[in-house]
Amino acid sequence: MWPNVIGEERVKQILKNALASGKLPGAYLFSGPEGTGKDAMAIEFAKAINCTSPHANGLEACDECASCSAIANFASPAVMFVHALPKSSDRDDAELKEEDVAIVREQRAMKAADPYFHIEIPRAQAIHVGQIRELRLSLARSIAGAKRRVVILGEAHRMNTQSQNAFLKTLEEPHADTLIILTSSNPNALLPTVRSRTQDVRFDVLSNVEIAEALRERESLPEDQSNFLARLAAGNYSRARGMIGEDVRAMRSEIVQFLRMGLSKSRKNAAVEIDKFLPRSGGSRFLEKRQAVEQRLLLLTLWLRDALALSTGSEDEIINQDQVEDLQKFVSRFGEPKSIIAAIGCVDRAMHRTKLQLQLRGVMLELVVELESALL
Ligand SMILES: [Zn+2]
Repeated sequence: MWPNVIGEERVKQILKNALASGKLPGAYLFSGPEGTGKDAMAIEFAKAINCTSPHANGLEACDECASCSAIANFASPAVMFVHALPKSSDRDDAELKEEDVAIVREQRAMKAADPYFHIEIPRAQAIHVGQIRELRLSLARSIAGAKRRVVILGEAHRMNTQSQNAFLKTLEEPHADTLIILTSSNPNALLPTVRSRTQDVRFDVLSNVEIAEALRERESLPEDQSNFLARLAAGNYSRARGMIGEDVRAMRSEIVQFLRMGLSKSRKNAAVEIDKFLPRSGGSRFLEKRQAVEQRLLLLTLWLRDALALSTGSEDEIINQDQVEDLQKFVSRFGEPKSIIAAIGCVDRAMHRTKLQLQLRGVMLELVVELESALL
């Protein structure tokens, strides 16, 4: 059932039961790790609710009627998808800047084409209170034709405190014909007052087998490539999907070379390695650069985790099986498990800073310094 959503059979069953009983809560909170398909599930649920010729006793969207295709394209008045936006000025109701409008439109189109796509908009720091006010106004207006209006708040924890307080009013006002779905990979950042008014549905990490199978079926990837990407994705389908078409092995050797240069006290050479995947100037757009950095940091984390597995005698957990020789060399030189754990922490922090700021080159150079003090 719901073949557009990978795995998560337990969650599907919960939602199917709710739909069959006809008793939906006012608001759900879909929580769980990134890339498990929380938005995809919310979209599929909205389709099933509003489908005009549903299958399976009304529990499954037909994927063909006007309602289904409008919802899938984010073009249905019945379904609103709210996410963090850049703020163009201090005024809450200020309009988006021209260049941001184009990016938002593009990102939403990517999400419509693939609900597992992770929307990333530069400088989109929060779901602002102006967006919540706008949402309340839209909910006050009635719409024609839809069975039930569905509001999806993607990464709802990105509502700041002011937004969450404003949003509480929406949760408290009963809208009989409206279902609100918050999705969040960090539900602890939501106010307890918000959480207590939602019904929590937890998503499970996807297994490597589920991810590999989805890559074969949806992306027609050959088996060896599907298995390789599934291992690297560590339960996150969006991540696996984002690495399709990338030369992951080449990326990995770049990042290992970067690590080697950084630790050989040759910071200048580390900078040269950075410039290979992060050109200092040139037309490449910020989001693409950030993705390039994130993918390499992820590969570095996996590589360091392998080094840790090797240093603690858990060889069978190694993901980069073809790199065992290099890993052994690394471990014989820097092999203290506690140093490697510290190094993994440095990469985690760099990943976090990458999400927050625009100076990606600075983030990578800072990482060199931190790795040096963790490992040497
Ligand atoms: Zn339909």
